[in-house]
Amino acid sequence: MKAAVYQGKQRFQVKEIATPVPGPKQILVKVDFCGVCGTDVHAFMFDVAQPGAVLGHEFSGTVAAIGGEVSEWKVGDRVIGGGGEPPVGQEPATRVHPRYNYRTMGFQHGRTRAYAEYTLMEPWEPLRLPKGVPPEAGALCEPSAVAVHAIRLSGLRLGDSVGIIGAGPIGLLCLQAARAAGASRVFVSEPAPARAQAARKLGADLVLDPLKSDVTDGMVQATNGVGPDVVFDCAGIKSTLDQAMNTVRRGGQVTLVAVPWEPLPVLPVDWMAREVRLATSWGSRPEDWRIALNLMQTGALSTASIMSEASFVPLEKIQSVFEALMKPTTQLQVVVKP
Ligand SMILES: [Zn+2]
Repeated sequence: MKAAVYQGKQRFQVKEIATPVPGPKQILVKVDFCGVCGTDVHAFMFDVAQPGAVLGHEFSGTVAAIGGEVSEWKVGDRVIGGGGEPPVGQEPATRVHPRYNYRTMGFQHGRTRAYAEYTLMEPWEPLRLPKGVPPEAGALCEPSAVAVHAIRLSGLRLGDSVGIIGAGPIGLLCLQAARAAGASRVFVSEPAPARAQAARKLGADLVLDPLKSDVTDGMVQATNGVGPDVVFDCAGIKSTLDQAMNTVRRGGQVTLVAVPWEPLPVLPVDWMAREVRLATSWGSRPEDWRIALNLMQTGALSTASIMSEASFVPLEKIQSVFEALMKPTTQLQVVVKP
């Protein structure tokens, strides 16, 4: 099969490798679509992926072969590449390790994932692709679940105002999940025109360009001098965490959703007198995937809104796609089609 194998030093090689054969308790999934995640871009950019690894965890596919002891699936079933409930003892380390550190521990295992034509899964891992959810949307169930998780974990309550810093795929999904959770008004900060436009289309009440105006001032003014109740940092770049803390209302909460890999400057004296809280959100849990799917089915969450025709790229283009995504980008979601 064809796979994009990480070579180290920011290089992928798309080449033929042996198609995996499912063990008695495994299934082989033919990958239909695989979303490119910021996580993968970081693994590439900071060169922490293991040479030989095949990345890609946002996917949908079709069951192509099953092991002899698998009864849950049959060949031809359409699946979403995750969201299943792990059996006791198989919970991911991110959830159960008492001192989990993503930077040093996140890329130890070079499992062959979905920037490839096929990938192996345990039968409990995937979800069934429901009727009415296209496979392109199913592939983005993972980032949608990340947004759902962030919103559920935050202090957001019905009628609250929300600030979202960064309208990349996760920011745009957070915008929709916040609305679904009852946010009254949503304010977005985004410099890239295509992303800002997508936020407007999704009904953001105010979209600010941080290169042209002061985001804190804009959001504070829009809330009658108070500041949004909850702010989500979906950018995680140099200035945004401090900006989020500066923007949120007295006693409000900032949730860090993006994953900054470099130190971020903050000046707490500016905002700590307002007794604001900072929370972090990490990935998603199986219930978030089910909620995300439900929101997709009811139309409350649209993944089509974060894609354009330019979103779909063949596996062969993966090197240039990752190089482009290392820099600030105007791209919406990128989806690889193996
Ligand atoms: Zn992801």
